[in-house]
Amino acid sequence: MKILHEGDHSKAFCHDCGDVVQTTFMRRDMPFSDGKGVAPNILVGVCDRCHRTVSLPAQSTPAVAKARKAATQAIEAKLPAIYIDVLDHAVHHIDSQASTDFRRALLTYFVHKAALDSHSGALLRASHRKAIERFPEERGVARRRLSLRVPTRVIDDFRKLEASTELNTTELLKSVVFLIQTRVLEEPRPRLIGELRALSAIWA
Ligand SMILES: [Zn+2]
Repeated sequence: MKILHEGDHSKAFCHDCGDVVQTTFMRRDMPFSDGKGVAPNILVGVCDRCHRTVSLPAQSTPAVAKARKAATQAIEAKLPAIYIDVLDHAVHHIDSQASTDFRRALLTYFVHKAALDSHSGALLRASHRKAIERFPEERGVARRRLSLRVPTRVIDDFRKLEASTELNTTELLKSVVFLIQTRVLEEPRPRLIGELRALSAIWA
């Protein structure tokens, strides 16, 4: 594979010009496709006629992937320790060899599914009520920190659910963890468990 440099030329199809055009390689900040952030100084092919970015050479894809991975944020909360125990128990039930880092995948899975479902607001509020009932919080209850670094789109899912449930981060996490307890530990459905086991296998 030939390594390209700034100023090199090639040809590519430009959608704006509707034609195969000559391109010049130069470095530009590339916005991610979801519009959340940019990958800085990426070598791209630019249309010589209209100056739009029209190609991304293979040598640039690792830099884009790295920038995208770096664009994560953390969901953080201090939860009563029982919730972390439940989460770890569910992780262990899905895959006894999974590390506690699989917590992140498990929570992300449930948050993403809920964000896609327009009825999840009521479901999560009900789950929150049951959680508070089941795990009453006496004063001075032991708490443990949960910190999950996730891509910005997962943060978006999370914010969406906070809005639809009117729960803050900590309370929403309790609700999601309780939902996990119900669906994974108490009333496991084979299809869901199968999906989560497959997720665990590719996660490691
Ligand atoms: Zn063009």
